[in-house]
Amino acid sequence: MSKLRFDAISKSYERQRITIEENGRRSELFGINVFNEERMLQYLTKDALESVRSAIISGSKIDRKIADQVAESMKTWAITMGATHYTHWFQPLTGATAEKHDAFFDLLPDGRALEKFGGGQLVQQEPDASSFPSGGIRNTFEARGYTAWDPTSSAFVYGTTLCIPTIFVSYTGEALDNKAPLLRALNAVDEAATAVAKYFDKNVSKVNATLGWEQEYFLLDKALAVSRPDIVMTGRTLIGNQAAKGQQLDDHYFGVIPDRVLSFMSDLEKECTKLGIPVKTRHNEVAPNQFELAPVFEEANLAVDHNLLLMDVMDKIADKHNFKVLFHEKPFAGINGSGKHNNWSLATDTGVNLLSPGSTPMKNLQFLTFFINTIKAVDTYEELLRASIASASNDHRLGANEAPPAIFSIFVGTQLGNVLDELEGVSQGKLSPEEKTELKLNVVGKIPEILLDNTDRNRTSPFAFTGNKFEMRGVGSKSNCAKPMTVLNTIVAKQLIDFKKEVDALIDKKSLKKDEAVFNILREYIKTSKRIRFDGDGYSREWEKEAERRKLSNNKTTPAALQVLTSKASLDLFRTMKVMSEVEIAARKEVELETYIFQIQIEGRMYNELVYSYIIPAAIAYQNDLIKNVMGLKDIYGAAHKKLTDGQLSIIEQIAEHIVEVKKQSDLMTDARRSANRLKDVNKKAFAYCDSVKPYFDKIRLHCDKLESIMDNNLWPLTKYRELLFQK
Ligand code: ADP
Ligand code: MG
Repeated sequence: MSKLRFDAISKSYERQRITIEENGRRSELFGINVFNEERMLQYLTKDALESVRSAIISGSKIDRKIADQVAESMKTWAITMGATHYTHWFQPLTGATAEKHDAFFDLLPDGRALEKFGGGQLVQQEPDASSFPSGGIRNTFEARGYTAWDPTSSAFVYGTTLCIPTIFVSYTGEALDNKAPLLRALNAVDEAATAVAKYFDKNVSKVNATLGWEQEYFLLDKALAVSRPDIVMTGRTLIGNQAAKGQQLDDHYFGVIPDRVLSFMSDLEKECTKLGIPVKTRHNEVAPNQFELAPVFEEANLAVDHNLLLMDVMDKIADKHNFKVLFHEKPFAGINGSGKHNNWSLATDTGVNLLSPGSTPMKNLQFLTFFINTIKAVDTYEELLRASIASASNDHRLGANEAPPAIFSIFVGTQLGNVLDELEGVSQGKLSPEEKTELKLNVVGKIPEILLDNTDRNRTSPFAFTGNKFEMRGVGSKSNCAKPMTVLNTIVAKQLIDFKKEVDALIDKKSLKKDEAVFNILREYIKTSKRIRFDGDGYSREWEKEAERRKLSNNKTTPAALQVLTSKASLDLFRTMKVMSEVEIAARKEVELETYIFQIQIEGRMYNELVYSYIIPAAIAYQNDLIKNVMGLKDIYGAAHKKLTDGQLSIIEQIAEHIVEVKKQSDLMTDARRSANRLKDVNKKAFAYCDSVKPYFDKIRLHCDKLESIMDNNLWPLTKYRELLFQK
């Protein structure tokens, strides 16, 4: 019965590493599959190049004639790279990427074939996208949606396909994807941050948000992974008794990377390098068979595209090396889950990182301005930021006893904490010359240029300042970074606009000098955003109580976390920042809730199948073996068998008790699912799945895991944790 399990184990034992030729230096391979600046110089006319450049820098439109030229050059280049097809590559609300391939092929009226790809096909496409989630937008408005070229993210050849990054919108203009709102948010933060940066340097004309993600993942032998129906269907193990050894010895973290894995990583990095993804770091993570990959940071839109592309490339390369990648946030109980830290900052077109302290007091005032405004923004919209990382799978981290917690707080470190405390004491209104000098010399001037003090780090903080950037740590390993990046950049944009208004008012009405006005407003922000600052242990019970006192949100489940999306404050924010309309937000909330429902539903169904088709039959088989044994002993020893069969009888009874419970709990769960399904309102249904269905999962699991621990290993049908996690 457990043939699949044992076949998989022997297959995994026989695996050989697949050797990868290291041909060429990484720097020479970088971006060879990308239609980047270098390629454009080579293939585009001067006009076309200028037009694309200005579209990238200032978002200007590219006219049709130029688009034709660009398309022609792209096609010529792509064909030399071996491409036969092209696709508009987009990010529907499913969270993954989507593509529909068309051949560069057309027939002339006389029947001759030619390769065709014009500006029309480059700029706009109409995928038959009626099956993508739209939260009702397409039903309410217009049946069709179309994809439109995003020239700020370079086209690339992947396999034999030219991929063109695009946004996906309805004909009435509503975003149906994750990229369109992100681009709008990046535009908003650019405008707002540029205006503020001009206080300090008139030459700044553009500010880019930067993003450096750190992707964590598990890597399992392919045969072992597919031997588990729960992994195949849900991306995680729904049951499984913990292995004798977990991560307690810390012998995996930063340890020697196993050979087979190293081959996979080298192959992956090579492929990424060609695709222009600047991968840099690789190492073992805390849990067994858990790893991390991180690139050099990039402009946020590009970084998001690169992360999505990376996840796709990883799947493919893993398959080639007989592995399966798990991006799920919590594939295994009892050991660490996976996240995707989002390192974020703002960079000017003059080459300055606005969250990096500088060498002069003025530069440091600029740093403090952006630093404090970010803190203030997160304080005001902490609940919205939490909503941006909510998902059924991420609830296993944020809502459970795992760092980071569901409560948002900011860690700034002692050094900057002291600076903020000092600034809080700045006088109101005009500053005396002495105070100004004192501030510049001893407070602002004392911020060291390099703040990257590794001893002063807090690993449990959900939003930590790490020297020259903020690190958002709650993002799920599986999720699209576009969602948190859209919210973060929108709230910072809003905050910077408010800040500028307040500073200008002090300058105009109270005739304060610019730096005085800045100090005055920052002082107020430090006072009013204090509750969000927390340097302690992020997942202690004390902090939970303290956070409640500070009125910080603590939404442990996705349905609860998503509610804030449609609050008046959120709707106002997205509308005034021109990031999303009310219709778009409502649609998104609905899609997120539906996705949540489906995921819990699939897990529920899978539990039923595991219980009825795997666990109970296996338990009965073993129980029958024991019964046969007891009967045999009775035949031989008669009444004297009792002292010989005590152990067997006790196991027979234990099995019976667990079977009763496991069946009872999964039947109750099925009933709960049925009543949840009868609810029409998507919000109510999501809460029903969360509060009435999901709680049965742990109860079912408990009895399954108990059975695993008392049963004959040979009869256990599911590949065990120790096999999944310790096979290299
Ligand atoms: P860790 O957090 O694991 O200690 P680091 O702090 O060195 O690692 O950096 C992690 C990530 O932060 C990397 O992907 C890096 O590219 C990114 N990063 C560094 N500087 C910036 C920045 N200014 N903006 C965005 N991301 C950045
Ligand atoms: Mg990090």
